[in-house]
Amino acid sequence: MACDKMAGIPYRIDLDLAARAARRIRARRIVVQMPDGLKPYGWIIIRCLEELIGDVGAEVYLHLDSTFGACDLHYGQLEATIKPDLIVHIGHSPYPAELAHPGLEPSRTTVVYVPALSMAEPSRHAIEKAAELLEGRGVRRVGLVTTAQHVHIVKSVASSLEGMGLEVRVPRGLPPYFSDAQSLGCDYRLPRSLVSRVDGFLYLGGGLFHPLGLYLATFKPVVRLDPYRDDADDLTGEGERVYKVRLAKVAEAMDARRWGIIVGLKSGQFRPWLVERLASAIKEKGGVYVLLANEFLSPGYLASVDSGWFDAFVVTSCPRLPTDDLWDYHKPVLTPGEAFMALSGKLEPYRFPW
Ligand code: SF4
Repeated sequence: MACDKMAGIPYRIDLDLAARAARRIRARRIVVQMPDGLKPYGWIIIRCLEELIGDVGAEVYLHLDSTFGACDLHYGQLEATIKPDLIVHIGHSPYPAELAHPGLEPSRTTVVYVPALSMAEPSRHAIEKAAELLEGRGVRRVGLVTTAQHVHIVKSVASSLEGMGLEVRVPRGLPPYFSDAQSLGCDYRLPRSLVSRVDGFLYLGGGLFHPLGLYLATFKPVVRLDPYRDDADDLTGEGERVYKVRLAKVAEAMDARRWGIIVGLKSGQFRPWLVERLASAIKEKGGVYVLLANEFLSPGYLASVDSGWFDAFVVTSCPRLPTDDLWDYHKPVLTPGEAFMALSGKLEPYRFPW
């Protein structure tokens, strides 16, 4: 434990990682980033870090803007203003370089990724409920999937499930991006590697975006074991419903000729390779497009450019935007995988998210 005050935080955060990096590079200016859920504890984290590196004499900033993932380091803005030598990014592992662009890491700033491991653990009762739900779906061989906050309890949950008669498969990690079983809402490579060897998945974590994405990426039953609510539920039906909505959007976009291609301006959401492929596919089909570059996307932002000229939009930044935030926009707003489907005139195979 870095300092006594950290004991009040329901996450295990090893600030020594940050302190070692600060000392190694003799940091003068440090920006500390964290997910919104950790911000109420931000002052504790900053005080503790300052205690640890008092001898370094660095100026420490808590970054108040939302950082939705390691795709969102804000370093262009930071390098143009504060010019930190060190970004301490808490709660996410590095963003997969192959999904973004060359030069994803900032050139003048060191980035240290500090895990925030949740103290929430599912009870035996909740794990038993998850096992029953899986069995109810006919799942005997189960793949385990989680997010960065729960990777440290994967082994214990796997062994509990095995004790309940299930055959558990934990996908091998992909350093430095993923620990075993870890997945992102835009990268389901680990669970996909198991698809032919499991009957379904147990998603260990909270929220709906990741487990529903898991369903769209694998089309296997998905049961969520939520350590925060200490409960389990079967999300397969909801996954099927979302899939139908997505297919309807793809079908609607099949006749689209005038496209808006949303180009992400967040550090890891700028994907020129993808933008180029989509632009070529649109041109090949005789369509036209406008490149819309932006950092944040909301229905209001989209409506502000949507003069009636556009038939459909494709979002290359984050798959959460079309499937979550803009799913009920009055025109099709697609993920790249869905846009490729619409442009090829085929409703299958379903591609998610790229
Ligand atoms: S799902 Fe979206 S917010 Fe999460 S890491 Fe991927 S691009 Fe970033």
